[in-house]
Amino acid sequence: MTEFDLFIQDCHVLLPDFTILPNAAIGIKDSRIALLESDTTNSGSYTSREIIDGDGKLAMPGFIDAHTHAAQQLLRGSVVDELPMVWTRILVPFENNLTPEDVYRGAMLFCIENLKAGTTTFADAGGPFMEMVARAAVETGMRGLITRSTMDSGSDIPDMMKEDTRIAIRNCEQLYKDWNGAGVGRIRIGFGLRQAMTSTPALLEAVAARSKELNASVHIHLAEHMAEVAHCLTNYMLRPAEWFDHFGLLGPNLIAAHCVRLSDREILLMAERGANPVHCPHSNLGNHGFSKTPLMLALGMNIALGTDGASATRLNLFEPMRLLKFAMQARHGVDINDPLALPAQEVYKMATQGGAKAVMLEREIGKLEVGMKADILLLDIERSHLTPTAHLPKTIVTAAGPDDVCDVIVDGKLLIHNREFLNLDEERIRYEAGQAMLEVGRRAKLSLESPF
Ligand SMILES: [Zn+2]
Repeated sequence: MTEFDLFIQDCHVLLPDFTILPNAAIGIKDSRIALLESDTTNSGSYTSREIIDGDGKLAMPGFIDAHTHAAQQLLRGSVVDELPMVWTRILVPFENNLTPEDVYRGAMLFCIENLKAGTTTFADAGGPFMEMVARAAVETGMRGLITRSTMDSGSDIPDMMKEDTRIAIRNCEQLYKDWNGAGVGRIRIGFGLRQAMTSTPALLEAVAARSKELNASVHIHLAEHMAEVAHCLTNYMLRPAEWFDHFGLLGPNLIAAHCVRLSDREILLMAERGANPVHCPHSNLGNHGFSKTPLMLALGMNIALGTDGASATRLNLFEPMRLLKFAMQARHGVDINDPLALPAQEVYKMATQGGAKAVMLEREIGKLEVGMKADILLLDIERSHLTPTAHLPKTIVTAAGPDDVCDVIVDGKLLIHNREFLNLDEERIRYEAGQAMLEVGRRAKLSLESPF
């Protein structure tokens, strides 16, 4: 008789090919999916320490938010409807006044918000005190690829936020040494560059070299806005992606957030190099522009999705999936009468398998198959906006939301059951984050309203 650590019985399963396996059972052992089969009549021959009734639920892979900023959790509500330059007026004083404790409290809230929405893995592009983000991910049970954002130049950046190039690299290496592999392997550390305008050539060179030596990811903001394109053209006579390529930074280990101001030539270059664009439709549609996603897909590129943090949106990947699909339809489909500018299956893939590949974990997460890590969410599908439906996977993309998530498993551990955390005090975490928000607001002289 097989013994599992956790067993989900009588659920439906969303398979990697966007079809449904009905009335299935999932057996989890040693943090991995050890059994996934459609016939539950054999379930009598299994035992399990813990059993979840999956009746009326759909098992899906946990979502992967491939571009976010945990340290901006306490900025929620501060940047909405603000006039330029949000970066210099709000973001810089905010980040500059964060303490390690603020970051920790914000990151705890960040993790519980993500987990409740079924996001089980995040790729953090960086902010101050990233060790506190790693600590929060370890404590909450999330999986994360965490990078320290580095800046060693830039006219808009106060001197105290810039680092000497060598110190910046040394700090990244220290974070790697202290936290890579923490949380029983759930935490991985990569290298980060904020963006082209805040990096000297020496920093780009050093990050390219060290990340290759350690086989680590590099997380950057790329082709996010026109000022960055103008900066690269003016100073280097190259466009941003070409400038990064000059240092060998475009590769399968590159997570390139936004990518909305790329030329077709740059897209081709990124496709050749296997780099991973991450679209963040909430940010991009707000002030940066439309991506050329259909062209990227036609070139076979791996694309992921991100939220870009909580400052202007809700942390979940249901909304970005929907938003990107309809934005691409409006931009690239309507004029040429093409209803398939961005099919539902492709955008779903971005939020799961695409994210997994972007964080170099495609053999571990992003799909439900035997042998994969058990990062699973259960969606309550017995809801009026989801069923009955002629095509459940397409309905998930177009109609499901974070409030439909009822159970969440990461690395084989059940963290949320019936929408409640089993080991975390959500109310306390929210209260403490609220206190931290007030304190950082006072120090940064930002008019952050009472968070309650
Ligand atoms: Zn970002």
